Amino acid sequence: MRRIAALVLLGFLAACGSAPAPAPIAPPNYSAPRLADPDTICLRDLSAENAIFQPLGSFGEGHCSIDNPVRITAGTVPWNHPGILTCQMADTLVRFEATVVQPLARRLLGQPVRRMLNLGTYDCRTQRNETTEAALRLGTSRGGKLSEHAKGRAIDFAGVELADGSLITVKDNWRAGGAPQKFLHELARASCDSFNVVLTPNHDRLHQDHIHMDIGPSVLCGY
Ligand SMILES: [Zn+2]
Repeated sequence: MRRIAALVLLGFLAACGSAPAPAPIAPPNYSAPRLADPDTICLRDLSAENAIFQPLGSFGEGHCSIDNPVRITAGTVPWNHPGILTCQMADTLVRFEATVVQPLARRLLGQPVRRMLNLGTYDCRTQRNETTEAALRLGTSRGGKLSEHAKGRAIDFAGVELADGSLITVKDNWRAGGAPQKFLHELARASCDSFNVVLTPNHDRLHQDHIHMDIGPSVLCGY
């Protein structure tokens, strides 16, 4: 009897020794969702706003290169000239058109805007002001601080074309009175909430025909 018990015990131990090792527990089939980078999110937002634009991939050189540039031809409405801007600036402008320009035009002028008048976007140049312009004329310019236009973060807004074809421009209507003047002044005042720097004809004589708006690091509401 004792011999049988020993054999059983041996058999048991042998069975234990030859048992397959437990299969390793596979890690859960889970991979963290990949977060889209801010540039991709911006391009996606711009598409969702129905803007018409083309991503440029890389643009400009050295100090005049632009982050995530786009060539935009229409925001809520077509622009008279395409603009080259960072995606972030283009996105800011399209939102500004939708939330400020169009509602203001409907309220004060009784009709929507059908075209935006863009006087300039990307331009690899230094800032212009009355001092630097005078130095340029005298040939004593030492150059100056790079303009936000050189970084694709600025636009010179010249005015709008309304649905009936009439033009409301900074050049002709800023001081002309009536609803068009009120429209431009309210637009300029509101733009200080969307952009970091706003320069109007009230600022200096270099801004008599446009409103400069940019999203650079400085803050100045020159209304
Ligand atoms: Zn400007």
